[in-house]
Amino acid sequence: MIGGSASGFFTASLLARAGCAVEVLERSDHLDPTPRTLIVTSHMRTLLGKVGESAVVNEIRKFELFTDGRAAQVPLVRPDLIVERSHLIRDLAQDAQSQGAKISFGNRFVDLQSNGTGLRVSVERAKGARVEELHADVVVGADGALSRVAQSAGWPRQPTVPLVQAIVRVPTGMSRDTVRVWFVPDDTPYFYWLIPESSERAVLGLIGEDGQETRRCLERFMEKRGFEPLGYQGARIPVYDRWTPVERRVGAGRVFLVGDAAGQVKVSTVGGIVTGFRGAIGVSESIMNGGESRELRSLRRELDLHLLIRKTIHQFKQADYSRLVDLMNDSTRRSLSQYTRDEASRVLWNIALSQPRLLLFALRGLLSGGSILPKIRE
Ligand SMILES: Cc1cc2nc3c(=O)[nH]c(=O)nc-3n(C[C@H](O)[C@H](O)[C@H](O)COP(=O)(O)OP(=O)(O)OC[C@H]3O[C@@H](n4cnc5c(N)ncnc54)[C@H](O)[C@@H]3O)c2cc1C
Repeated sequence: MIGGSASGFFTASLLARAGCAVEVLERSDHLDPTPRTLIVTSHMRTLLGKVGESAVVNEIRKFELFTDGRAAQVPLVRPDLIVERSHLIRDLAQDAQSQGAKISFGNRFVDLQSNGTGLRVSVERAKGARVEELHADVVVGADGALSRVAQSAGWPRQPTVPLVQAIVRVPTGMSRDTVRVWFVPDDTPYFYWLIPESSERAVLGLIGEDGQETRRCLERFMEKRGFEPLGYQGARIPVYDRWTPVERRVGAGRVFLVGDAAGQVKVSTVGGIVTGFRGAIGVSESIMNGGESRELRSLRRELDLHLLIRKTIHQFKQADYSRLVDLMNDSTRRSLSQYTRDEASRVLWNIALSQPRLLLFALRGLLSGGSILPKIRE
């Protein structure tokens, strides 16, 4: 396993539990994941069970959506979870180890090649040190959006977008169980969010297309609304524009990708934690069953639906967002309350039944929509 983070440790844990000999190679010198405030659906608990519970710092029961002076509220029947990434990764590492996986820090993957019977994996043990070679029958790339494993095994490079969030104080009067979302299409085809991790601290962020411009937009947004940044978190995230087949053969060896490395991110909201865990289940099924995985088929359907949603709204102008909020009737809100972002087909089906005008409106967006790929590639 190349990459010791959320999807890598979870895959390692599943494979070790199934009896495989697993070694995780992580380039960091020790387990010190960058802290990051994440929001996930309750589906994380279904997938992980008790693992990761200590990382949950808050629960969200309501979304408030804003655009151009309009507002809509969506209460959640099943609360979303606010998770501290560094705790989550520690819990997952511990779980992987307790299942029998070995974790080796300070190991940077450099390259892989066929060695006749399997794969020769080149690893740098310390910066500038001599590259060492290991043997593996199967290599899983869980090494993030800019995956070196993907590059070595010949997958095409995937597009990415920058995500930046600032740590801020929770504004007076805002409840810690509420997330605010703003649609400002002049700034971003995505959205701004304000997510409280406690009664005092929240993250205010956005996804953009160009890193520097994204940061400038966030600074302007904060200035206009009186937020003061206490720190920043950010990185690039893959843009899912088509399914990435997760397996390639390199000689007699098998190479897989999982998580951000495979672009397993919901492109509607750019959330990748739950879908990365589903990818981990799928990849471990696939390794064990000679390539077959029900979970991967279902994940592909889910990610494709999120792509459809993103294509529908990606070119929205302000007037479209205003109309979208105006068209949200009680039963649309009920569908959004009842089903999570990890159940896209149910959400879409119920909205289509409850508000057919929204369906027609979405169809128009889809037909007039262009590419969702960032215009600027960094
Ligand atoms: C600021 C920010 C906020 C986000 N918020 C949310 C959110 O609210 N909800 C949500 O669902 N998702 C969110 N995401 C996306 C989510 O964090 C990612 O989808 C997820 O963390 C990806 O996990 P991963 O394990 O696949 O990859 P990563 O976490 O990127 O891990 C890759 C690992 O591979 C290691 N590695 C890389 N190269 C090598 C190499 N050559 N050799 C060895 N090791 C290597 C890295 O050190 C790292 O440990 C956010 C992302 C960012 C940047």
